[in-house]
Amino acid sequence: MSTQVTISALERKRRGLLKRVAGLLPFLGGSLVLVGRVCGYHNCACAKGKKHPTYYVTWKEKKKTRTLYIPKDMLKEVKEWVREYERLREIIKKMNEVQRHILRRYVTEKRYKTKKRM
Ligand SMILES: [Zn+2]
Repeated sequence: MSTQVTISALERKRRGLLKRVAGLLPFLGGSLVLVGRVCGYHNCACAKGKKHPTYYVTWKEKKKTRTLYIPKDMLKEVKEWVREYERLREIIKKMNEVQRHILRRYVTEKRYKTKKRM
């Protein structure tokens, strides 16, 4: 009996990862950036240096960094989207590992079976 993980165990792990994908909530890829903004009103506190905290989401598109303003009342939700995207990335990373593992195991199991027959 081999101590190595079997292909069927890896396939079980793979099914578990797919279930986690299906259970995801809406997600958004990108980074949240906090910028102090000046609104332009001369009487406003921001004119005296107390800038308005403003959130943006940034992401890469065709090697360029893109930026999108996040309305204040959507900030909490957008933060959840970005967190959920990190969860998706973690699942993708694990799936890649499992798939590569299956490929490797398939080759070694096949070799083992061939040897036994010889
Ligand atoms: Zn202002």
